Amino acid sequence: MDGQLPRDIIEYQLIADQARLELDVRRGGLELSLTIDRDQAEPLGIEVDAPLFDRVRTCDNHCEFCFIHQLPKGLRRSLYTRDDDYRLSFLYGNFTTLTRFTEADLERVVTEGLSPLWVSIHATDPQVRARMLRNPRGAMSLRWLRALLDHGIEIHGQVVVCPGVNDGAILDDTLAGILDRFPEIASVACVPLGVSRFNAEAAMRPHTPEEADSVVDLVEGWQDTFLVALGRRVVYAADEYYLLARRSFPDLGAYGDVAQHENGIGMAAAFQARFRGRSDAPAGGPGGFFQSVDGAPAAGYRAPRATSVTFRPRRDAPVTVITGIYGERVLRPLLSPDVEVLAVENRFFGGNTAVAGLLTGADISDALKGADPTRRYLLPDVCLSNGRFLDGSGLEDLPLPVEVVASDGAALREALRVPVPS
Ligand code: SF4
Repeated sequence: MDGQLPRDIIEYQLIADQARLELDVRRGGLELSLTIDRDQAEPLGIEVDAPLFDRVRTCDNHCEFCFIHQLPKGLRRSLYTRDDDYRLSFLYGNFTTLTRFTEADLERVVTEGLSPLWVSIHATDPQVRARMLRNPRGAMSLRWLRALLDHGIEIHGQVVVCPGVNDGAILDDTLAGILDRFPEIASVACVPLGVSRFNAEAAMRPHTPEEADSVVDLVEGWQDTFLVALGRRVVYAADEYYLLARRSFPDLGAYGDVAQHENGIGMAAAFQARFRGRSDAPAGGPGGFFQSVDGAPAAGYRAPRATSVTFRPRRDAPVTVITGIYGERVLRPLLSPDVEVLAVENRFFGGNTAVAGLLTGADISDALKGADPTRRYLLPDVCLSNGRFLDGSGLEDLPLPVEVVASDGAALREALRVPVPS
């Protein structure tokens, strides 16, 4: 394109965004040169089927808590990609540890304005971070975080909290380190590690409810400190912590612009607010760990979740909402008693996997066996990517027809035909 070979969709879009474009096409022995003149608004007419045209940069870490290491065999290949590529961070919100980041990457990020980026911090103590990533480069790679902030790049961080490893005093030290060294950071999510039944790391275990309670206390204490020092809360505890500790969620207003909604920060509060008819809360776009590695069409960047419903549901039938164990705790207080909530246990992944987004078709099928066929069954679209569950099955494999509803409070309210409170 104009004599350049774009490396990815970002470069492609920069080059393609011109009224006059020279294209050299080499394909299957065909060599062709074209000049394209078009109006600014006219699409180029080229379809791009992947975001990266060269190779995805994979991570050189070996984190004990890595969920990809805890996946069973036989899933889609794309799910096993351990990427650590700042381009995917920019495009999808994937987190990068910056251990493979280079001076040339910094120059490109700054020149092309690739902002915001999403950075895995885990600990600011160099030794602790290197140990957690099992990579000596982890000790020093947060220098790139400083450099990115120095150049005005918006950064959202995350700390995957592992009990006995980087919680308690280490988490305290990490949040102090963030305030001290990276005060420009836009937000920091403290999220619990996921432990599946395939975990082979003896030191990795889920949080107890008491530990979850302590994390919330610690993070909320630091929110007050950040608020005084910077005028912003900056750090947030994941919804999962509130659910595990059985604490009520903060009001949506406490989450600022809910920048880490897709990372499970303020998602429940936003869902509740939208269900109750507050339209200013974010709906949540396509997101989540698995959504980001599948599909990746050029225009939408993330795979669409579901295909459309192909049957006509009986609108007057009693309703069952299918969700995960955590979803039930969010939904039950919102719904009237005549709406049934079917909380599906995640036997496929096991461990502490309780979010709806990781449910598989097999577990949902088991839960629906013997269910009343005269009811309406609603399923959140977050369970699907390109219309498939994580285990590769589809809606057609379920024993009963289900209606797929966007994972958004307003969409559920509409599906249930609950009037908006005045
Ligand atoms: S950096 Fe991410 S992908 Fe790589 S090992 Fe750690 S958790 Fe897994």
